[in-house]
Amino acid sequence: MIRNTNVEVKQEVINNINREMMETNPCNKGVNGGSSIPSRVSRKTKPTDTIVNINGVKVGGSEIVVIAGPCAVESREQLFETARSVRTAGAHILRGGAFKPRSSPYSFQGMGEEGLKLLYEIRKETGMPVVTEVMDTRQVEMVAQYADMIQIGSRNMQNYPLLKEAGICRKPVLLKRGMMATIDEYLMAAEYVLSHGNEQVILCERGIRTFETSTRNTLDLSAVPVLKRLTHLPVIVDPSHGTGVRWMVPPMAKAAVAVGADGLIMEVHYNPEAALCDGYQSLSLDEFDSLMCDLRKIAQAVGREILARKTTAI
Ligand code: PEP
Ligand code: MN
Repeated sequence: MIRNTNVEVKQEVINNINREMMETNPCNKGVNGGSSIPSRVSRKTKPTDTIVNINGVKVGGSEIVVIAGPCAVESREQLFETARSVRTAGAHILRGGAFKPRSSPYSFQGMGEEGLKLLYEIRKETGMPVVTEVMDTRQVEMVAQYADMIQIGSRNMQNYPLLKEAGICRKPVLLKRGMMATIDEYLMAAEYVLSHGNEQVILCERGIRTFETSTRNTLDLSAVPVLKRLTHLPVIVDPSHGTGVRWMVPPMAKAAVAVGADGLIMEVHYNPEAALCDGYQSLSLDEFDSLMCDLRKIAQAVGREILARKTTAI
């Protein structure tokens, strides 16, 4: 019964959007003349910065927000110990994948709903909002019940049905840049979410595929000032996937803050060597703590602050 109502509401939203698309040209010319910047994400349409509010944590203002946690939720102990530690070090939002997009079908695929329940539990204990990935339209409704923000990963940046579903869902969306996506394609993907009714979108540069093989991806930090110029949406950086190498995460995180990122998302694990997913690029608890101290100095040097939060033990 309830589900039918939802479907009807969604169909009405989609009909309205289709009508609007037919009646108006949603694109205008970008700052470089040649590219088409879609209208809803464009700074020309809305010159002021959009602030995305993730259950009280605001991203896109002068204060820099740090999202930290494991690549994947692996167990209660792993998640809870990591979450408590990153919170004490000053992180604002907890990350952790319950549904993992793995290159190999034989790799750990995530804990699914059990992982979401653990995220929900530690979210209540620590007071930290939670972000977790959705890979499928059929997961959006369920994930949105547990998470404060839904993540659309690099591999799904051009999954149009998923972007539409995220637009209809009323949770903030962390939209990662596709590893093969141009800035124009990326902004058009964000436009999908906005045009379906959800303006709470955060962009995330997470590295693109180039000819270079010494890093997992090439972290395109030039995307940060470009995006900040073209769009009013907040822009954060993921130096973990952007480099794929633990020792490179701190220098690139600092560089991201220096070039104007509104936040960072980083993988942290209580025992990186034993991680089931992305351990080689995960910071240890001590490394994360020490990086947070350095980031405060870099932020100050560029006229910003890392968002203040209580660092007292829970
Ligand atoms: C992740 O955040 O764990 C992830 C899979 O990221 P990406 O989509 O950027 O590869
Ligand atoms: Mn990962």
